[in-house]
Amino acid sequence: MPNESPFPTSPVVPEMLDGSKIIRFRCRKGIDCWNACCSNIDISLTPYDVLRLKTRLGMSSTQFLADYTVPYELEKDGIAGVKLRPVDQGTACRFMKPEGCGVYEDRPTACRYYPVALLSLRRQDEYVDRNSYALVREDHCHGHVEPRSLTIDEYRSEQGLDAYDELARGWRQLVLKKKSSGPTVGKPSLRSRQLFFMTCYDVDRFRNFVASDAFNALYDLPQDERSRILADDVELMQFGFRYLRQVLFGEASINMHAAAVEARSARVREKMERIEREAAERMRREDEAGEGD
Ligand code: SF4
Ligand code: SF4
Repeated sequence: MPNESPFPTSPVVPEMLDGSKIIRFRCRKGIDCWNACCSNIDISLTPYDVLRLKTRLGMSSTQFLADYTVPYELEKDGIAGVKLRPVDQGTACRFMKPEGCGVYEDRPTACRYYPVALLSLRRQDEYVDRNSYALVREDHCHGHVEPRSLTIDEYRSEQGLDAYDELARGWRQLVLKKKSSGPTVGKPSLRSRQLFFMTCYDVDRFRNFVASDAFNALYDLPQDERSRILADDVELMQFGFRYLRQVLFGEASINMHAAAVEARSARVREKMERIEREAAERMRREDEAGEGD
């Protein structure tokens, strides 16, 4: 089963489709390829997928990420992504059961979309993504010859994708924004990559961070908003997208304590002055060494 960003070598029909496109497809119990798609997986997870699965399995996001996922780089932009980890020494999904998906109600976005692939697009002059789709035809999947036609929009509704896409929108926008910022910005620092990973995927660790004294010394969150965010995983996840827009792209929407901002600016100024002093000292020593030659 492919992930949602098809690679050039993937069996994606090379045509961009919109939601009104009619496709022929049905997956049903009893079909002769039952579970073939889940036997060889490559499934990227959205933050909301992680949230649903860790809740389903009754574990923390930290534990879920360690046990059930592998990290990878989303494209070559240095943005962190996570994929489902297959069974040990195999390619099958760990949730696959003879009777079908063992986490069906909480199955990831890419599983819901299959055999449609979501392609998010973003025009340079707009900060909203528009969806476009492609069709994935793999020889092992016989759903394409089943006698049923429906539009991609109808298929998305049937698979419960409206809610899933809505809740992943903030994350997709961050990824698209990072990609479109281009190579001149360069690879993000280790710290910003770690921050992106924690905020997007490890919601329970992000909760501890938001509840910490250090966070609250810097950010001025009204008490009722803070309580609401800390009490609800979905609210917390969406707050995380806002937080990352502020930290990574300077789109301020969370108030900061003026004194803390000033103290931080002073620390940055001090650090810059120290770097300049050290560079000047190094140059002076190099000049002296050159005169001695
Ligand atoms: S999560 Fe379910 S649908 Fe997705 S690959 Fe695993 S078994 Fe298949
Ligand atoms: S029809 Fe396709 S999606 Fe359904 S079980 Fe077969 S391979 Fe999987």
